Amino acid sequence: METEWSKLIPKPRSAFLLVQCNECGHRQTVFDHAKIEVTCQVCGAILAKPSGGKAKILGKVLESYG
Ligand SMILES: [Zn+2]
Repeated sequence: METEWSKLIPKPRSAFLLVQCNECGHRQTVFDHAKIEVTCQVCGAILAKPSGGKAKILGKVLESYG
C-alpha cells in the first residue's frame, strides 16, 4: 500500500534542494534554510551560506523538494 507523505505532513516553508557543486559536479542535498555553511562532501567547496533566512546557494540548484 502506498502512502503519500506529502498529503499527511503539513507543508513547511522550507525545502531541500539538490545542489550540484560548481567545482567537482558532486550532487548533494542542501537545506534551503541552512544555518551553517554547507560544503561539498567531495571537494569542500562552499555550496550554501546562511543569510539570515533562506540560505544563499552558491552551487547549481538542480531540483527542490518540498
Ligand atoms: Zn565539490
